[in-house]
Amino acid sequence: MDFADSPAEAAFRAELRAWLGTHLPDHRRRYPPSDDELTLHPDKSFDACRAWHRRMHAGGWVGLRWPREYGGRGASLVEQLIFAEELIAAGAPPGVNTIGLGMVAPALMVHGTPEQKARRLQPILAADEIWCQGFSEPNAGSDLANVSTRAVLDGDHFVVTGQKVWTSNAHRSDYCILLARSDPGSTRHKGLSCLLVDMRTPGITIRPLRQLTGDSEFNEVFFDGARVPAPALVGTLHRGWDVAVTILMYERQSLGGMVNLHLFIDRVLALARRQGATDPVLRQRLADLVIAGRALRLTNLRYVTRELAGTPVGAEGSVLKLTFTDAYKQMAEVAASILGPYAQLWGGNGWAPEDGRWAFQTLFAHRFGIAGGTDQIQKNIIGDRLLGLPR
Ligand SMILES: Cc1cc2nc3c(=O)[nH]c(=O)nc-3n(C[C@H](O)[C@H](O)[C@H](O)COP(=O)(O)OP(=O)(O)OC[C@H]3O[C@@H](n4cnc5c(N)ncnc54)[C@H](O)[C@@H]3O)c2cc1C
Repeated sequence: MDFADSPAEAAFRAELRAWLGTHLPDHRRRYPPSDDELTLHPDKSFDACRAWHRRMHAGGWVGLRWPREYGGRGASLVEQLIFAEELIAAGAPPGVNTIGLGMVAPALMVHGTPEQKARRLQPILAADEIWCQGFSEPNAGSDLANVSTRAVLDGDHFVVTGQKVWTSNAHRSDYCILLARSDPGSTRHKGLSCLLVDMRTPGITIRPLRQLTGDSEFNEVFFDGARVPAPALVGTLHRGWDVAVTILMYERQSLGGMVNLHLFIDRVLALARRQGATDPVLRQRLADLVIAGRALRLTNLRYVTRELAGTPVGAEGSVLKLTFTDAYKQMAEVAASILGPYAQLWGGNGWAPEDGRWAFQTLFAHRFGIAGGTDQIQKNIIGDRLLGLPR
């Protein structure tokens, strides 16, 4: 891969930098560059992030890779990478509606009816309608095909009964893309359907789940005979698994902060310098961390090169996910070691370095080993598909 920008890419970068230079929101000063940019975790500042999202949308910087016919910018993969890099470098906050933009909309572009596309895509882009993903259940996480929430056709409505769990942002969402069993006699991947569900439908109860960090970013969602109009079906009845696979493919791609972890690791290096961390063991751990960040970036870029050449990344994505998770945890641990006992102080405490960022990160880092497929599942994929280990 040629690391230098082409003239067109350099122009794109310059245009973006100039725009960021004049449009970065004031609240950035109140929420200094922190976890938000990488994790797209707007729990603490949702309204401010939505306002920023809308400003980016007005500037034509949302839906970067969406086709122009759907209101996107039609940008290339490399432009998308430049965009992510520049936003982090500028300390920009994240936008909102990650699931809508990155998963629901692409699935609608593939499987949706013309009416669904016309009605749904624009409000997703503008963050006028926020979406969540209702896939996981208490007995269907890694084993997603075990979904047991039912959506049975009754005249012109589906009647939905069951429970979802881990539903990120359900409490803020207007709509949910739901995977449910529409053919009551079916098992596993067959007989499922995907529905676009209005979260205000009577019969839906949302209960927040409190996380290690104290935030309640995700929820349990209960469906008790909720009646969902039949036109909310995406794709073919009982063939919802096809839609789910499309969504999961985009979910994996949207874990894209991975390519820029080195920029966050650089901040740990700066922290070490500021704190005068000279302990030789700590220096060694810092070096390991920097190497992990650089290796992750280069591996990522190697896969980008392959994508550009028309060979989509398959099971190798699991290598990236696994090494990213590991490096992220390492990053939080090294930062905590640099700060010593102060690393335990939570935001709001006057003595907490970086307003408690590292106390938060040490707990927050564990999510990556679960979300989007657990570490163990990634290892299974690597073993089966890449290493050819015996089953
Ligand atoms: C931050 C976060 C946000 C999320 N947001 C959403 C969301 O918005 N919508 C949604 O639908 N879901 C969401 N999820 C759920 C996520 O997809 C699941 O947590 C994940 O798929 C794991 O499923 P599970 O929690 O049921 O664990 P389980 O599948 O029950 O696994 C439990 C343990 O057993 C191990 N295990 C399971 N099967 C195997 C196997 N075959 N071989 C080896 N080990 C195995 C797992 O690795 C894990 O350690 C979110 C999760 C997190 C952490």
